[in-house]
Amino acid sequence: MADIYVFMGPPGAGKGSMGELFCGETGVVHVSTGDLLRAEMAAGSELGMQVKELIAKGQLVSDDIVAAMVEKRLGQKDIREHGCLLDGFPRTVPQAEVLDGILSKLGHRMAAVLLIEADEEMLVKRMTSRRMCSNKDCGAIYNILSLPPKTEGICDRCGQKLYQRADDSEETARNRMTVYQKQTAPLIDFYSRKGQLVRTVSDDSGIDACYQRLRRVLHMA
Ligand SMILES: [Zn+2]
Repeated sequence: MADIYVFMGPPGAGKGSMGELFCGETGVVHVSTGDLLRAEMAAGSELGMQVKELIAKGQLVSDDIVAAMVEKRLGQKDIREHGCLLDGFPRTVPQAEVLDGILSKLGHRMAAVLLIEADEEMLVKRMTSRRMCSNKDCGAIYNILSLPPKTEGICDRCGQKLYQRADDSEETARNRMTVYQKQTAPLIDFYSRKGQLVRTVSDDSGIDACYQRLRRVLHMA
């Protein structure tokens, strides 16, 4: 029996960094569905060929295929021995139900579904803080929170104007938040009803402080 963890959190909350620290400390195997898809395609397995075909046609990879890959991966030796942190799965309640089935079939246990909560205004500020130099030959990148230029809006290196990419705009950030809330709300409900949801907060106190908080709610400290 292995312990399986799921981390959920809005964009910009540091889910990736905290997951990395968690796996580094515990030896739990990090499994992202993106990596699984790429590995199956690279291995040329039957699943991989199906995925390749779908992607070539511009279609989404179905829940069934993702579930089959997750099941295959969760049955492997390293995960049976060390457990795993699932990244990118489940994203929907039907996927969560499928995952339940996979776990009971393989004899694994859902150790915790960790919800990383963060203030939306703080996240939007973080997600919109990047500035790029408009001089293509320079390409300097700034962050008005953590790496600001000496003069607002001007590149230190070449003196040209800085600009904000559309990807980093407030509108994009707010849209991503809305998509996240919409997608996650039913999952939060699903796991909290099962008593598997654990909550932690990500704030401006730095990644180490946030990680220590996460360790406490998972009873690692
Ligand atoms: Zn520049």
